[in-house]
Amino acid sequence: MNIINPLELIRGVANRIFINGEWVTPSSQNNLQVISPASEDVLFSYKEASTADVDQAVAAAREAFEHGEWPRLSPNQRSEYLTKVADLLRKRMPDLAKAWTVQVGAPIGLTQKLVGQQPALFDFYADLTKTYPFEEERKRADGNSTMILKEAVGVVAAITPWNAPMVLLCYKVAAALAAGCTIVAKPSPETPLEAMIMAECIEEAGLPKGVFNLLPAGREVGDYLIRHEGIDKVSFTGSTAAGKHIASVCGEKLTRFNLELGGKSAALFLEDADFAAALPSLMVYSMPITGQVCFSLTRIIVPESRKQEFVDMYLAAVANIKVGDPQDPNTLMGPLTMQRQFERVQNYIESGKQEGAHLACGGGVPADCNKGYYIEPTVFTDVTADMKIAQEEIFGPVVSIITYSDLDDAVAKTNDTNYGLSGAIYTQDAELGYQVAKRIKSGNLTINGLVVDVTMPFGGFKESGIGREGGIEGLDAYVEVKAIHLTS
Ligand code: NAD
Repeated sequence: MNIINPLELIRGVANRIFINGEWVTPSSQNNLQVISPASEDVLFSYKEASTADVDQAVAAAREAFEHGEWPRLSPNQRSEYLTKVADLLRKRMPDLAKAWTVQVGAPIGLTQKLVGQQPALFDFYADLTKTYPFEEERKRADGNSTMILKEAVGVVAAITPWNAPMVLLCYKVAAALAAGCTIVAKPSPETPLEAMIMAECIEEAGLPKGVFNLLPAGREVGDYLIRHEGIDKVSFTGSTAAGKHIASVCGEKLTRFNLELGGKSAALFLEDADFAAALPSLMVYSMPITGQVCFSLTRIIVPESRKQEFVDMYLAAVANIKVGDPQDPNTLMGPLTMQRQFERVQNYIESGKQEGAHLACGGGVPADCNKGYYIEPTVFTDVTADMKIAQEEIFGPVVSIITYSDLDDAVAKTNDTNYGLSGAIYTQDAELGYQVAKRIKSGNLTINGLVVDVTMPFGGFKESGIGREGGIEGLDAYVEVKAIHLTS
């Protein structure tokens, strides 16, 4: 097994930030460290961008937006650039998979499968740009025309979390570029590598200076960025707590914003569900990336009458999850990404026990893991809706099994959360599944499985967010609508 050297994945730009088409040295002396989830060793350190760097990056993005060619190119010309970026990202997919694995602890077998979504997002928006109705004529009742224009919203602050760093950045950057916006991106301080690879590809694709700027930094610098006068839109993916704060800051100036936040999604098994057929998708999506995925199916809601049958089957499958080194292709579950995640997940496991849920498996550190943030896949049964583990986003491999008495009770329990991001409904009756899906307050639902398709809108009801990414709706998020009424 080859050991990944993270700094070999980028082209010598670890201590540089990307402003106005140049790799420059950050003006701050503050060093940030990226810690290996698997060994707890320092993987590398790099200089954090400063608020002075934010000023420069926003000024470059503003100049590129107000006077540069990017928003003034035809959609077909922008599309050509996006295709170039997609092609360059495709070539870097092996690096992108390794960067994800080494920083986040996601198993290499999984990251190699998933990285294709990243160029796919650029391909999708490259195609959509060519047909999107940027300029449309509508007839009025008086016989004259109104031109409906969809104009780029302006300079976008793109802020992303650490769990799936690149795909979440691609959602924002590909759609914002397609619309004609310019961007200042601030990735999570724990996972800067992929964003650096993106900047390298954007530079190589020859996008005009200032269109894309990159500032790896922590939350204080992020906070300065979202408050900046030069920002027209904040596109944020992260925790619900930070999202509420960002919404309130943006509210003061009516800065546009999009929020992709946390989740507490359910796999709802209807009475007739085929458990064995459901198992493969459930095993992939109940604890993906050690449960550190916003759309994880962390609440499993089963009929009381079939509880034992389900629990026996699920626990047998969970026992087969191979926890280990994320760089080993046979590993199914790596460690949690960082110390604070490890503590957070352990606190929730303790809370589940104290509130009276039954710890059916896991709950501790795997026997052979004496370093790294490893934790056993954990399942609680006898969970009631009022427990913290049933209500709050744990962001770890901890699943709650909840039972219901009849269909109304099932729907009520599925909806009994402040979140509404994702969900699965398992049934052999497709029409019933569809009707039940209509009753679930969630932005994304799949009948029998969990479909993740970046060409479809993704986002949350309730505290899971505001707005959508992906699909046509993902491009709508970066335009302002203008109506120009023509008269004869
Ligand atoms: P986080 O909210 O702590 O941080 C996310 C990003 O926001 C980081 O870059 C961070 O530096 C920055 N940030 C934090 N506070 C800020 C502030 N006040 N101003 C500006 N920037 C700020 O979240 P996290 O721990 O990195 O990520 C985990 C969370 O992200 C989970 O809740 C998860 O559900 C959510 N998430 C949501 C989606 C989705 O699409 N809905 C996808 C992935 C992750």
